[in-house]
Amino acid sequence: MKFVRLCSFIILFFVAATAVAKPVVEKIRVGQHGAKTRIVLEVTQSAKPSVFTLPNPSRVVLDFSNILFKPDLTSVLLPKNEKMLIQKMRQGVFKPGVVRMVLDVKAPVTPTVFSIPPSQQNKKYRIVIDLRPREVLGNKKSSKKVPSVAELTKQAPLAPVVRPKVPRRKQDPIIVMLDPGHGGVDPGAVGLKKSREKHIVLEIAKKLKKELERQKNVKVYLTRDKDEYVKLSERVKMAQRRNADVFISLHADAHKVRKVRGGSVYVLSERSSDKEAARLAREANDGDLFAGLDISKESKEVQNILIDLTQRETMNRSSALGQKVLKELGGVTKLRKGKVLFAGFRVLKAPDIPSILVELAYLSNPTEEKNLKSQRYQTRLARALAKGVSRYINERVRLKN
Ligand SMILES: [Zn+2]
Repeated sequence: MKFVRLCSFIILFFVAATAVAKPVVEKIRVGQHGAKTRIVLEVTQSAKPSVFTLPNPSRVVLDFSNILFKPDLTSVLLPKNEKMLIQKMRQGVFKPGVVRMVLDVKAPVTPTVFSIPPSQQNKKYRIVIDLRPREVLGNKKSSKKVPSVAELTKQAPLAPVVRPKVPRRKQDPIIVMLDPGHGGVDPGAVGLKKSREKHIVLEIAKKLKKELERQKNVKVYLTRDKDEYVKLSERVKMAQRRNADVFISLHADAHKVRKVRGGSVYVLSERSSDKEAARLAREANDGDLFAGLDISKESKEVQNILIDLTQRETMNRSSALGQKVLKELGGVTKLRKGKVLFAGFRVLKAPDIPSILVELAYLSNPTEEKNLKSQRYQTRLARALAKGVSRYINERVRLKN
């Protein structure tokens, strides 16, 4: 009996403790997308602000109950864009238990607010605030009339828009998908001594797999483990089917100028990602899964937000991964450029998996061809790549789960 009482005491204690814990706004991003200004708040728990606008001067007000802002709104960077609707942002305690966020805007706007629950990609809740110039909505008359709070909150529903993917459990292995480029009928680059890119990158991928799997709880898959042709889109799909945490495509380049040498690391460029976003939005309507979610039933607006946010996160993560790998690669080989490069490679286009493409060296350069063929050098390269990938995994993936 005593035990039962103790248990209920503990349960009560935890209920009380969780009830007290405040949602914390940890990060704030502001971006300009065409005519629309978007603010994204990353929050530790769900929070539903009430939203309304005030005239003369035009302001958007969001009242949150019991929230804590870590960053100071006045110090958040506003993108330099002439269409940017926000002039200033600030926050303050409006009354006990209510924190007010005020956006000073240049002209009357219509706010729309969504919340997005955590996904496998991002463990935080996100509150998305979209501001549009009021005229753009085609309701010129209403720009004079101030809509009531009730009208505005009706326009700004706060519905959770997605069901999150099953979150990773601590004990689940971290999945790395390695992609040795080319294969089968496609030899890739061919060196002066006739060594073929497809064979060299496969050998290095196998060594890299071994190096990575020395780490506890890391599982590595290859898009091909023999000399066969695999379509580029299929390589990306394989990574998605495996639920990969990172995707690394391995290549060796060729250049008509022999003396060109050095390694490079690529991530997807913004422009290619925009085009990809448009394609994904089209496919979403055909019932394709996006980042493991069926978004075909969501509105166009919500679809675009989800695709945009996921892509942006993935691109940030890809850059972080790329930088770590580039740094380690630089310890073994000369680098072509001192930074991660951008390109539109098809294999980098998984919207939900941080992906990089590594051009290890130039097969057209005699020294590098000799190096790439050497087993010892291949091992050194594999160790360097593994070190870079592991640093990323330990900093980002493990901590976030
Ligand atoms: Zn290649």
